[in-house]
Amino acid sequence: MKPLVYADNAATTPISKNVYNAMQPWLTTGYGNPSSWMYDTGKQAGRAMDEARALVAKGIGCDPSEIIFTGGGSQADNLAIKGFMAGASAKGRKHIITSKIEHHAVLYTCEYLESQGYRVTYLDVDAQGHVDLDQLRREISEDTALVTIMAANNEIGTIQPLAEIAKIAHEAGAVFHTDAVQAVGHMALDVRALEIDMLSLTAHKLRGPKGIGALYVKKGIKLVPLVHGGGQERGIMCGTENVAGMVGLGEAVRDATERREEIMAYVRGLRDRLVEGVMKIPYTHFTGDPVNRLPGTASFVFEAIEGEGLIMRLNEYGICGSTGSACSTGSLDPSHVLMAIGLPHEIAHGSLRLTLGEQNTAEEVDYIIEKLTEVVATLRSMSPVWENGAPNLTAASELTAHTHHHH
Ligand SMILES: *Cc1c(COP(=O)(O)O)cnc(C)c1O
Repeated sequence: MKPLVYADNAATTPISKNVYNAMQPWLTTGYGNPSSWMYDTGKQAGRAMDEARALVAKGIGCDPSEIIFTGGGSQADNLAIKGFMAGASAKGRKHIITSKIEHHAVLYTCEYLESQGYRVTYLDVDAQGHVDLDQLRREISEDTALVTIMAANNEIGTIQPLAEIAKIAHEAGAVFHTDAVQAVGHMALDVRALEIDMLSLTAHKLRGPKGIGALYVKKGIKLVPLVHGGGQERGIMCGTENVAGMVGLGEAVRDATERREEIMAYVRGLRDRLVEGVMKIPYTHFTGDPVNRLPGTASFVFEAIEGEGLIMRLNEYGICGSTGSACSTGSLDPSHVLMAIGLPHEIAHGSLRLTLGEQNTAEEVDYIIEKLTEVVATLRSMSPVWENGAPNLTAASELTAHTHHHH
């Protein structure tokens, strides 16, 4: 039987035992509707929901009344951007600033709003994936309502300078939203200290269940409802509440934020061990900021390798990772993130993202290094662009300018 070595924790994570235990009663005996507050079982569900909201708020340093539960990270991003731009808080301003490396939940929402008459600026990033703050200062104006920049990138792990971005946004009278789906529980994130106005998070990237997330909205900011209905979540995201999911999210945030330093020290150790081993493979480059990055994220490009073939071969050994190169979708372009950091096409096609979590072990990391080294050698031996132990379509000089080399 092949093992399961799950190294794709940026895609989703396994539910932890304590999250499962916390949710279990609300999936079985505790089925009351929180809106049925006149009898005990409904009242208890409402109380569980309040406790969950308080835990989420505590994890990011806000008040429980500032948390709106959503059906995940994509919904939180949509609510923040559409709900804010349509509302009175935007004060007739029609301009949004975002970056070229956002998750599609942000990028496609912004593109949709462009089709509705809003103006959007997509900031460039440097070779390590940091947004261009000078460009932000140049582009922001009295017409800018919203700046939405992710806290940490899901493909290359680079962390953005959130406090600086917030300061620039506020000086121009704009509101700052951050997609912190990858960041919560992985880095220090206090919305008051960083002066963040809106923040998206989701449970399933934090060892919680899928389909539940939250948007923090600073007191005083008005959003137009995204889902009208029975008045739940202050009438902004209506529908009978996912009580078990909310309890799971609360527990996931509590655990991930309370034990963050301990978990992340362990995960960072595994990540460094992995990077050291993988960088011994010739013609391999490391992507993203080597220091200011998510602790569990290791991202690479291998010359003369095709990402999809690599993932399929690794799967034969039970190893789960992901690639930003997706020919199967019919698109010949590698991911928008790898393009934005300036990787040449032919090299970006060989991308691999391995993301580790608390449940991974050093033995697994060594197994990944061993199998990955073999698989890369095998694929290269069959590749038309590999000759005598080297790529024959060398773009190495160009690449050097764009990626960081580990020694
Ligand atoms: C996963 C992810 C999302 C989407 O969250 P869902 O809960 O899957 O909708 C949004 N942004 C980032 C950065 C992500 O990694």
